[in-house]
Amino acid sequence: AGFTVAIVGRPNVGKSTLFNRLLEQRRAIVDDQSGVTRDRQYGIADWNGKSFNVIDTGGFVSNSDDVFEREIRKQAKVAMDEANVLIFMTDVTTGITDLDSDVANLLRRTSKPVYLVVNKVDNSQRQLEATEFYSLGFDKTYFLSSMSGSGTGELLDDVVSNI
Ligand code: GDP
Ligand code: MG
Repeated sequence: AGFTVAIVGRPNVGKSTLFNRLLEQRRAIVDDQSGVTRDRQYGIADWNGKSFNVIDTGGFVSNSDDVFEREIRKQAKVAMDEANVLIFMTDVTTGITDLDSDVANLLRRTSKPVYLVVNKVDNSQRQLEATEFYSLGFDKTYFLSSMSGSGTGELLDDVVSNI
Protein backbone atom coordinates (compact mmCIF):
# COMPACT_ATOMS: atom_id res chain seq x y z
CA ALA A 1 0.00 0.00 0.00
CA GLY A 2 1.03 3.64 -0.23
CA PHE A 3 2.57 5.76 -2.92
CA THR A 4 5.26 4.01 -4.98
CA VAL A 5 8.05 5.45 -7.10
CA ALA A 6 10.03 3.14 -9.40
CA ILE A 7 13.46 3.88 -10.85
CA VAL A 8 13.88 2.29 -14.28
CA GLY A 9 16.58 2.39 -16.94
CA ARG A 10 19.37 0.33 -18.39
CA PRO A 11 22.26 -0.86 -16.22
CA ASN A 12 25.01 1.48 -15.01
CA VAL A 13 23.16 4.76 -15.35
CA GLY A 14 23.11 5.20 -11.56
CA LYS A 15 19.71 3.86 -10.43
CA SER A 16 21.03 2.19 -7.28
CA THR A 17 23.10 5.26 -6.40
CA LEU A 18 19.94 7.38 -6.43
CA PHE A 19 17.98 4.65 -4.61
CA ASN A 20 20.55 4.54 -1.82
CA ARG A 21 20.57 8.33 -1.59
CA LEU A 22 16.77 8.43 -1.29
CA LEU A 23 16.87 5.89 1.52
CA GLU A 24 19.75 7.60 3.27
CA GLN A 25 17.81 9.37 6.00
CA ARG A 26 15.82 6.27 6.76
CA ARG A 27 17.09 2.73 7.19
CA ALA A 28 16.45 0.74 4.05
CA ILE A 29 13.79 -1.92 4.25
CA VAL A 30 14.95 -4.33 1.61
CA ASP A 31 13.53 -7.76 0.98
CA ASP A 32 13.43 -10.38 -1.71
CA GLN A 33 10.16 -10.23 -3.57
CA SER A 34 10.11 -13.73 -5.02
CA GLY A 35 12.79 -15.41 -2.99
CA VAL A 36 14.19 -16.84 -6.21
CA THR A 37 15.56 -13.91 -8.12
CA ARG A 38 16.46 -10.58 -6.70
CA ASP A 39 15.76 -8.25 -9.56
CA ARG A 40 14.13 -5.50 -7.50
CA GLN A 41 14.93 -3.72 -4.27
CA TYR A 42 12.25 -2.08 -2.19
CA GLY A 43 12.68 0.68 0.33
CA ILE A 44 10.93 3.59 2.00
CA ALA A 45 11.98 7.21 1.59
CA ASP A 46 10.83 10.51 3.07
CA TRP A 47 10.74 13.92 1.48
CA ASN A 48 9.08 17.10 2.75
CA GLY A 49 7.38 15.07 5.47
CA LYS A 50 5.89 12.62 2.98
CA SER A 51 6.77 8.91 2.90
CA PHE A 52 6.76 6.77 -0.20
CA ASN A 53 7.95 3.37 -1.38
CA VAL A 54 10.86 3.24 -3.80
CA ILE A 55 11.60 0.39 -6.20
CA ASP A 56 15.10 0.02 -7.64
CA THR A 57 14.90 -2.20 -10.72
CA GLY A 58 17.44 -4.20 -12.64
CA GLY A 59 19.74 -5.98 -10.25
CA PHE A 60 20.13 -8.79 -12.77
CA VAL A 61 23.16 -9.91 -14.74
CA SER A 62 23.33 -11.71 -18.04
CA ASN A 63 25.93 -12.52 -20.65
CA SER A 64 23.54 -12.52 -23.56
CA ASP A 65 22.40 -9.21 -25.04
CA ASP A 66 19.02 -10.73 -25.92
CA VAL A 67 18.27 -11.87 -22.40
CA PHE A 68 19.57 -8.58 -21.14
CA GLU A 69 17.18 -6.48 -23.23
CA ARG A 70 14.26 -8.76 -22.44
CA GLU A 71 15.01 -8.40 -18.73
CA ILE A 72 15.15 -4.62 -18.92
CA ARG A 73 11.81 -4.56 -20.71
CA LYS A 74 10.30 -6.94 -18.16
CA GLN A 75 11.53 -4.77 -15.29
CA ALA A 76 10.13 -1.63 -16.90
CA LYS A 77 6.75 -3.32 -17.32
CA VAL A 78 6.63 -4.53 -13.72
CA ALA A 79 7.56 -1.03 -12.58
CA MET A 80 4.82 0.47 -14.76
CA ASP A 81 2.30 -1.87 -13.09
CA GLU A 82 3.45 -1.45 -9.50
CA ALA A 83 4.42 2.21 -9.32
CA ASN A 84 2.38 5.41 -9.20
CA VAL A 85 5.15 7.42 -10.83
CA LEU A 86 8.28 6.42 -12.72
CA ILE A 87 11.76 7.84 -12.70
CA PHE A 88 13.40 7.00 -16.03
CA MET A 89 17.14 7.29 -15.60
CA THR A 90 19.70 7.88 -18.35
CA ASP A 91 23.40 8.76 -18.39
CA VAL A 92 24.87 11.91 -19.93
CA THR A 93 28.29 10.29 -20.35
CA THR A 94 26.98 7.78 -22.92
CA GLY A 95 24.37 9.96 -24.55
CA ILE A 96 21.10 8.37 -25.72
CA THR A 97 21.61 4.66 -26.44
CA ASP A 98 19.36 2.21 -28.32
CA LEU A 99 18.33 0.66 -25.01
CA ASP A 100 17.35 4.10 -23.69
CA SER A 101 15.14 4.59 -26.74
CA ASP A 102 13.59 1.13 -26.15
CA VAL A 103 12.74 1.93 -22.56
CA ALA A 104 11.47 5.37 -23.58
CA ASN A 105 9.09 3.77 -26.09
CA LEU A 106 7.72 1.45 -23.40
CA LEU A 107 7.24 4.27 -20.92
CA ARG A 108 5.38 6.40 -23.43
CA ARG A 109 2.55 3.86 -23.19
CA THR A 110 1.78 4.58 -19.55
CA SER A 111 -0.54 7.33 -18.41
CA LYS A 112 1.41 7.57 -15.15
CA PRO A 113 3.79 10.49 -14.65
CA VAL A 114 7.29 9.79 -16.01
CA TYR A 115 10.22 11.89 -14.80
CA LEU A 116 13.19 11.69 -17.12
CA VAL A 117 16.46 11.95 -15.25
CA VAL A 118 19.77 12.59 -16.99
CA ASN A 119 22.27 11.40 -14.42
CA LYS A 120 26.01 12.01 -13.95
CA VAL A 121 25.59 15.69 -14.76
CA ASP A 122 28.50 16.49 -12.46
CA ASN A 123 29.58 19.78 -14.03
CA SER A 124 28.50 22.59 -16.35
CA GLN A 125 30.03 21.00 -19.45
CA ARG A 126 27.85 17.95 -18.89
CA GLN A 127 24.85 20.22 -18.36
CA LEU A 128 25.29 21.42 -21.95
CA GLU A 129 25.62 17.84 -23.22
CA ALA A 130 22.54 16.76 -21.28
CA THR A 131 20.25 18.94 -23.39
CA GLU A 132 20.43 16.16 -26.03
CA PHE A 133 17.97 14.20 -23.87
CA TYR A 134 15.16 16.71 -24.44
CA SER A 135 14.78 14.96 -27.79
CA LEU A 136 13.32 11.92 -25.97
CA GLY A 137 10.25 14.11 -25.59
CA PHE A 138 9.28 13.76 -21.92
CA ASP A 139 7.44 16.60 -20.20
CA LYS A 140 9.75 16.64 -17.22
CA THR A 141 13.54 16.36 -17.59
CA TYR A 142 15.91 16.66 -14.65
CA PHE A 143 19.69 16.93 -14.65
CA LEU A 144 21.13 15.08 -11.66
CA SER A 145 24.37 14.10 -10.11
CA SER A 146 23.17 11.23 -7.95
CA MET A 147 26.66 10.87 -6.62
CA SER A 148 26.74 14.41 -5.15
CA GLY A 149 22.98 14.78 -4.76
CA SER A 150 22.81 17.83 -7.00
CA GLY A 151 19.40 18.20 -8.65
CA THR A 152 17.66 15.62 -6.50
CA GLY A 153 15.72 18.22 -4.48
CA GLU A 154 13.87 19.58 -7.48
CA LEU A 155 13.07 16.07 -8.69
CA LEU A 156 11.74 14.96 -5.30
CA ASP A 157 9.67 18.13 -4.85
CA ASP A 158 7.89 17.30 -8.10
CA VAL A 159 7.61 13.55 -7.38
CA VAL A 160 5.96 14.04 -3.97
CA SER A 161 3.60 16.67 -5.39
CA ASN A 162 1.67 13.63 -6.71
CA ILE A 163 1.04 12.28 -3.18
P1 GDP B 1 22.68 1.09 -11.88
O1 GDP B 1 23.22 -0.11 -12.58
O2 GDP B 1 21.79 1.88 -12.80
O3 GDP B 1 22.01 0.77 -10.58
O4 GDP B 1 23.90 2.06 -11.59
P2 GDP B 1 24.78 2.24 -10.25
O5 GDP B 1 24.03 3.05 -9.24
O6 GDP B 1 25.25 0.92 -9.81
O7 GDP B 1 25.98 3.15 -10.78
C1 GDP B 1 26.79 2.75 -11.85
C2 GDP B 1 28.10 3.54 -11.79
O8 GDP B 1 27.85 4.92 -12.04
C3 GDP B 1 28.78 3.46 -10.44
O9 GDP B 1 30.17 3.38 -10.64
C4 GDP B 1 28.41 4.80 -9.79
O10 GDP B 1 29.35 5.23 -8.84
C5 GDP B 1 28.38 5.73 -10.98
N1 GDP B 1 27.51 6.91 -10.77
C6 GDP B 1 26.26 6.93 -10.27
N2 GDP B 1 25.78 8.20 -10.21
C7 GDP B 1 26.76 9.00 -10.67
C8 GDP B 1 26.88 10.42 -10.86
O11 GDP B 1 25.99 11.22 -10.57
N3 GDP B 1 28.05 10.87 -11.41
C9 GDP B 1 29.08 10.02 -11.74
N4 GDP B 1 30.17 10.56 -12.28
N5 GDP B 1 28.99 8.69 -11.58
C10 GDP B 1 27.86 8.18 -11.04
MG1 MG C 1 21.59 -1.09 -9.73
